[in-house]
Amino acid sequence: MSELSRRGLMYVMSSPSGAGKTTITRALLKTNRDVTISISATTRPRRAGEVHGQDYFFVTTEDFRDMVDSGEMLEHAKVFDHYYGTPRSPVEKALSAGKDVIFDIDWQGTQQLREMAREDLATVFILPPSRADLEKRLRTRSQDTLESEADIRGRMSKAADEMSHYSEYDYVIINNDVEEAIRKAQLILDAERLKRRRIAGLSNFVRGLKEGI
Ligand code: 5GP
Repeated sequence: MSELSRRGLMYVMSSPSGAGKTTITRALLKTNRDVTISISATTRPRRAGEVHGQDYFFVTTEDFRDMVDSGEMLEHAKVFDHYYGTPRSPVEKALSAGKDVIFDIDWQGTQQLREMAREDLATVFILPPSRADLEKRLRTRSQDTLESEADIRGRMSKAADEMSHYSEYDYVIINNDVEEAIRKAQLILDAERLKRRRIAGLSNFVRGLKEGI
């Protein structure tokens, strides 16, 4: 089987904030050796606890523009008030090394990736189980950052905007049990890896099997 190898997969996960996407992507990273996550660049200010180069590359608007102008961004979008983009070269390196890359990007970025790499893409939209659950999660999170009621309302309305794009995705996971959601995300990853077009060298392999029969 040595001549068989697999093309890396671009595994996109989108969700409104507060749907549990970070927990799911971290779990996949922990249990899959050949998976890496794309670290985005953003112009938004760093939140408490976030690490430059780990959560995001925090850059100025000028630096961000330079990266876009020089073609260093695989995709980029303005998400609400700030710019976000995926640096191209780490993704290309990981894919050509046969690794799968997870993207935590919004629907605009997903659309751009779909236009340029449909064959290499698998997309998942994660939904919260209920409005009340989403609100509870956003409120718990906002306690750390002392957000006002208006901020929370704003986040709820952003979540509603983002959720209206669920139908553009290949898969949907309703996150009413995080362990179950992780299991489903893993299941999708495993099935996508088995797609015929992702197995390189298959026709030679089958030819070899048939030889001498
Ligand atoms: P946050 O500021 O809460 O970390 O992220 C806000 C939104 O921006 C999330 O929906 C996240 O998926 C999206 N996002 C993060 N990085 C990127 C990126 O590189 N490109 C795009 N298009 N969206 C991103």
